[in-house]
Amino acid sequence: MGDSKKASDALTFSARLHGALEIATGVYFLGGFGNATFFIGSEGVAVVDPGLYVNGPRVVSELRAITDLPVRYVIYTHGHYDHAFGTPAILDDAEERGHAAPDIVGHVNVARRFERYAKTSGHLAKTFDMQFASWGPGGGDVVRMARYCPPTIAYEDRITLDGLGGLPLELRHGLGETDDHTWVWAPDSRVIVGGDFIVSSLPNAGTPFRVQRYILEWAETLEEMAAVEPLFVVSGHGDVFTDDSTEMLETTAEALRWLDAEVVRRINDGQWQEQILAEVELPPEMAASRYLQPLYGHTSFAVRDLLRRYMGWYDGNPSMLFPSRKAAIALEVLNLSGGADAIIARVDELSAGDKADKQLALHLVDFVILADGDRVADGRLRKAELLDGIAAGEKSFVAGNVLRSAAMLERELLE
Ligand SMILES: [Zn+2]
Repeated sequence: MGDSKKASDALTFSARLHGALEIATGVYFLGGFGNATFFIGSEGVAVVDPGLYVNGPRVVSELRAITDLPVRYVIYTHGHYDHAFGTPAILDDAEERGHAAPDIVGHVNVARRFERYAKTSGHLAKTFDMQFASWGPGGGDVVRMARYCPPTIAYEDRITLDGLGGLPLELRHGLGETDDHTWVWAPDSRVIVGGDFIVSSLPNAGTPFRVQRYILEWAETLEEMAAVEPLFVVSGHGDVFTDDSTEMLETTAEALRWLDAEVVRRINDGQWQEQILAEVELPPEMAASRYLQPLYGHTSFAVRDLLRRYMGWYDGNPSMLFPSRKAAIALEVLNLSGGADAIIARVDELSAGDKADKQLALHLVDFVILADGDRVADGRLRKAELLDGIAAGEKSFVAGNVLRSAAMLERELLE
């Protein structure tokens, strides 16, 4: 059994970037943009989440610095690009060593996800360019370079893997960030590998680009994890939790349950999306929790996913049932308001000073851009500045990147 104090001390950011760390006997944590975990028995190895395609060679070299045993299982906590795409390097390593190819293990919905990814790859590449804009150009290469290695063992509810020579692994399915999620429980070492059920910050429970997420079931799964009383909980991104595992799991579950209940209550009260989006925020004691900081996702994104889950798209305003084109509306507004000059003057007033409201200024400048008249370039420049200004105050990785990548695009359109 690993020493929890020692492990938690060593799990600094720099340690996570420098090689695999043994957190319990035979259990190694390899930190990266997405975390990988190795389980090493007397006869073979399981690799959980080989990560991005480009991460595969690092996973292999770190594993081979520890053991020459064959990889028996590659386990996917889910089929996202940053978890399930480093597999080709592991398959190549097995072939070079004359080992049998490992079984690839995941939930039955992983293969369905891969089919959808292949079907919508153009869209996905574009949205990855935006979501990961702070990596520089080519975030979408994650999609463009992908080689799909679907599970050879696909399970539905639970499965136990006992081919490592000791160190049995129980894989359990739960809905959460995805419909294909697995969490791994190693009862001997009392380690959980939680995938993206746990991201060391506010759960990414709704994003601008992705399909439906499952907030209530997410909470139930975190409670199920707490019930097995783990000693170590490995996140999909960020930390390994030790002494405070239960506190982290329960606090996060409580916040997700609160969000679900609050949105449902308001829907049943007859509120429409706009009011709910504007008013729902986590209660202050939850918002202050170190487990719930919106470093990657955003509370309002989670609210939007709940709205999508429980309501149709109708927003309560029949004007929006068959809407006019935004450009046509913008032209009318411009003509009635004294033209683009008047709107830009107001945008400038709203953009600076004590009473600045950059978000409101954005809505106004959109009329100038959409109407596409002779001041469109001035509008684009102002929009880029506003987006950068709002992004500067934004903690969420996803929100910041959406804003910054849009600012870059506006500037490109000026050239
Ligand atoms: Zn992830």
